[in-house]
Amino acid sequence: MLETLTQCPICGHTEAQLFTEAQDFTVSQEIFKIVQCQECTFCYTNPRPDFKSIAKYYDSEAYISHSNTKKGLTSRLYQWVRQSALKEKSQLVARLSGFHPEKQLKILDYGCGTGEFLNTCRKEGWRIDGVEPNQAARQQAEKLTGLFIQEDLFSEHFTTESYSVITLWHVLEHVHALQETLERLKSLLCPEGILLLALPNRKTWEAQKFGSYWAAYDVPRHLYHFSPTDVANLAKKHHFEIQEMLPMYYDAYYVSLLSEKYKSQKTNFFKGFWQGWQSNQHAKKTNQYSSLIYVLKKKAQS
Ligand SMILES: [Zn+2]
Repeated sequence: MLETLTQCPICGHTEAQLFTEAQDFTVSQEIFKIVQCQECTFCYTNPRPDFKSIAKYYDSEAYISHSNTKKGLTSRLYQWVRQSALKEKSQLVARLSGFHPEKQLKILDYGCGTGEFLNTCRKEGWRIDGVEPNQAARQQAEKLTGLFIQEDLFSEHFTTESYSVITLWHVLEHVHALQETLERLKSLLCPEGILLLALPNRKTWEAQKFGSYWAAYDVPRHLYHFSPTDVANLAKKHHFEIQEMLPMYYDAYYVSLLSEKYKSQKTNFFKGFWQGWQSNQHAKKTNQYSSLIYVLKKKAQS
């Protein structure tokens, strides 16, 4: 079933206009509308498959976020990048939290997929927890980490104010209950804890370049299409402060390669890489990287 939002998921304003129409190139080939709030300019997929019916849109070998298939060069490349990115992610999390194995800090990865990031953290001495709604991915994550992975963020398993770090690596854009999720994450975070949100950035150069073919629209799985302004508005609403915004350089290449494939219906590595490189060059001046990591902290109670 499709559901139609009558209000902006961030500001609650009721007026929205068509922003673009995008195709689901990975699973259904269906066309979805993305609308823009006339108040805060946030862009969101509307109408969208409701929570119960979204699962079938993840049901594809091609949807590689949830599988470890090594078929095809793009997929192999993705795996290689993921390995490099894993190390960088764990180093980043350690730097931001002042991590030391003796501190016994807890990290929660919401939308942990097949568990590679959590497993890296575990090996480094973190106490880990994970949430993954996709059953196949969750089972793989459990096998890898040897831990029980939760299906739902609202599980009673979790203790409030117990996590030094909570990470969402390209996850928030998939979550139906946006406001409730942010409140829940805030409640699980230690007072001094950090929340990391990695999100595609619709203001990036290659999004303008590819228009509706921009692969990071990824409708209907991406329910929201964030810009840094939107994340600032959302953070403010939930009493978070944005401490840092960090680039994710690999994403420009990966997204450009995929976008080029959707647009020209064939894989063109040279063109894809060239556009990814250009995107990162533009972003050096504007900070509008293809994807950004937002580092959030709770505002001190006053
Ligand atoms: Zn709005």
